[in-house]
Amino acid sequence: MSLDPVQVTMRKSIAMGTSVVASSNGDSKGLWEGKEEFDQENLGLTTKPQLVANQRRVRKVDGGIFFPKPVNAVTIAVSSRVLFRTETEQKVYEQKGVEEYLQYQVEHENQPFLPGPAFSFVKALEEVNNRLRELYPESEELFDIVLVTYNHAAVGVRLINTINHHNLFIERFCMTGGSSPIGYLKAWHTNLYLSADAGKVREALSEGIAAATMFMSDKLTEVSQTQLRVAFDGDAVLFSDESERIFKTRGLDGFFQHERDNEDVLLDHGPLKNFLASLGKLQQKFYAKGHRLDCPIRTYLVTARSAASSGIRALKTLRAWGLETDEALFLAGAPKGPMLEKIRPHIYFDDQMFHVEGAAEMGTVAAHVPYGIAQKQQQESR
Ligand SMILES: [Mg+2]
Repeated sequence: MSLDPVQVTMRKSIAMGTSVVASSNGDSKGLWEGKEEFDQENLGLTTKPQLVANQRRVRKVDGGIFFPKPVNAVTIAVSSRVLFRTETEQKVYEQKGVEEYLQYQVEHENQPFLPGPAFSFVKALEEVNNRLRELYPESEELFDIVLVTYNHAAVGVRLINTINHHNLFIERFCMTGGSSPIGYLKAWHTNLYLSADAGKVREALSEGIAAATMFMSDKLTEVSQTQLRVAFDGDAVLFSDESERIFKTRGLDGFFQHERDNEDVLLDHGPLKNFLASLGKLQQKFYAKGHRLDCPIRTYLVTARSAASSGIRALKTLRAWGLETDEALFLAGAPKGPMLEKIRPHIYFDDQMFHVEGAAEMGTVAAHVPYGIAQKQQQESR
């Protein structure tokens, strides 16, 4: 039996070893379309996990557990390999095969995974949710995190124990048992998908889902505990790669000329525009309650464009979209790493690997958006 999102169960049911049936969206008021009942037997969860001592911050409405419907939430799908560190397990899988791998996971199911590159980002999302719930107790406009894993469901016990250990608020699991999660991502109305698998990320992007590849890094800068900071490159991330193509074919002078000539022509949208829009939507909720200056979400444009010659088109485009970032940094070709080190974002998105690597070397969590002309050139140079 394959597992799909509509069969995702609440961790609480599993942790208690009961067969309590939860609606697929966790909504006590209505069931999501296509809902099926939780079948513990088919999940293969034969071992009861440890009961967790810490009380979860579960909000209750009318006696039920409150979760936003996917259509209202800002859904962030995160793969287990970027939320947690699983290199040891990957090695077991690669060297010893799937059976020994599953056995290893079961034997270590009470040993939590360490935090991975997406961990602080997810924690920051939860902090924003806490603030939103204080201001808007009934609203479903929240971040909703879905843990996506290609793993067999037997590994789910260890993942659930890890989530409890780190006091994360993740109730939605998508265990695909090795098959592609893309269809499920659509079903969850995913606003952003983060994965270690560049192939799956490319597939998601080709389906119009904002997505980025994340990498393991040993050097990580400390990030804010109270404010979510998200930084974006411009071309081929928020914007399409149309100007990037001009730069690659006509050089820097041709690019400057093109951008001057087209200053009042809006750039087309890029793969992460809608994710920026969803952050903007949540920011507006804080502004409406008088929290503009201490808004717990802050966004940054960090672009190699130079302000005077080519930045104006980027700014005019963002303004026309109603999506101005809180800060805009025009580096005129200077390296991005040092600036990002000062910003200390929870995540930075760029389409060019050398910017991703440069940022990561200086301790920034940088994610690669494999989109646009830069990918073609990267492939050709290999
Ligand atoms: Mg770019």
